Amino acid sequence: MRLVELDDQIHILEPQADAQTVLRNIIETGIQEDAFYVLDVGDIVKKHKEWKIKMPRVEPFYAVKCNDSLIVLEVLAALGTGFDCASKGEINKVLSLGVDPSRILFANPAKLKSHIHHAANQGVDLMTFDNECELHKVKNFFPSARLILRIRCDSTISQCPLGMKFGCDPLTEAPHLLEVANSLGLNVVGISFHVGSGCQDPPVFERAITAARNLFDIGLHLGFNMNILDIGGGFPGNKGTSIDKIAEIVNSTLDLHFPPSEGINIIAEPGRFYAASAFTLATNIHSKRDSVNNSMYYINDGVYGSFNCILYDHAVVSPQPFMVNPKPVTKLQPASVWGPTCDGLDQVVDNCLLPPLDIGDWLIFEDMGAYTLPVASQFNGFPVPKVHAVIDEALWLLLKDRHPLTEEHFTMDSGPYWAESWNQTDSIAQIPSFLLNDILD
Ligand SMILES: *Cc1c(COP(=O)(O)O)cnc(C)c1O
Repeated sequence: MRLVELDDQIHILEPQADAQTVLRNIIETGIQEDAFYVLDVGDIVKKHKEWKIKMPRVEPFYAVKCNDSLIVLEVLAALGTGFDCASKGEINKVLSLGVDPSRILFANPAKLKSHIHHAANQGVDLMTFDNECELHKVKNFFPSARLILRIRCDSTISQCPLGMKFGCDPLTEAPHLLEVANSLGLNVVGISFHVGSGCQDPPVFERAITAARNLFDIGLHLGFNMNILDIGGGFPGNKGTSIDKIAEIVNSTLDLHFPPSEGINIIAEPGRFYAASAFTLATNIHSKRDSVNNSMYYINDGVYGSFNCILYDHAVVSPQPFMVNPKPVTKLQPASVWGPTCDGLDQVVDNCLLPPLDIGDWLIFEDMGAYTLPVASQFNGFPVPKVHAVIDEALWLLLKDRHPLTEEHFTMDSGPYWAESWNQTDSIAQIPSFLLNDILD
């Protein structure tokens, strides 16, 4: 079987196949050694549908920094989302897909002068600010920009808080900044916030939207044409998580403070929500060290690669064993999982329970789409895993002619993307729950 190694095309799945099948097929070729990703394009489409259904008033501007893989951006552009860009580079990447500048929000409150200048040249005129210096910069380089004031309103619990770096105080600073903007003759059009990435405090959205409403009124009073509320990111995206609670609070608070009759545009900047669950990572065990009651497994991706999310995104990852020669799982033992580099810091899992595994077996990690690939390096000479993007046939028909996607973005070659090559052995180790209970007691 030919192994296709293309990062840039989406493989159309044969009817019985799915992302899991492809993952198994690639492993079972026996010739794959490098770690790799399977990107399930359908998962992104599903997320988009979910967003539209659950928060119909809120238009998503995908936060590019979360995962800037070309296919992710192309699929989202085809679905019609906007984009939250933080730099000239991200703006260029999105523009290069043929996305209209009006669909880009330059959502970095602390911008480089040259990047503001670039945004002006490209017609990207919507941008955020949270301090007075920024207003003077914008006055100099893009006086007609449409400005969104970012306020601080932090979730009590979040995976990555952002308030210590960005956002002005809604009571003590924001009104003054609106006055300064007014005196400079600048054009403020809205209010934004980011409650923190990986927010676990849904009611924070009510507090933040309420604070934004007060500032809307101050802005309107100063004569600004306030017409955009940007509720930022923070939405969960892993398998098994839900945005229901946040959506309920957002919808009811919007109806109270920003009723549809006012015609305010409501936007958000979700990153994690769209990207997290679409990517599954397969890593190969290339070495191990066994001691009496503990195994150390060394895999070919680590914290300098995809698992940088452990350091930067405070992610906790959980491995699923995939045995090349499956045998019944009769016992689990304490194990740790380590990356391939020669740095002692390169540890992926500190302590978990795994069946005894051999060199050549695999560890699979789900929910690896958010804040992983864009930061991954080749430190110590270990390559960043390739991405195999897959889509099922029905979705392909739906997406294939939606700009910027074209027929050329898809391929229907055989190989691991076809179910028939899949031998049906159930290699993902099914761990009997009584075993887990025994050990965890
Ligand atoms: C990182 C970031 C986001 C995305 O946040 P998620 O929690 O991944 O949804 C959105 N907006 C801004 C300004 C960001 O910096």
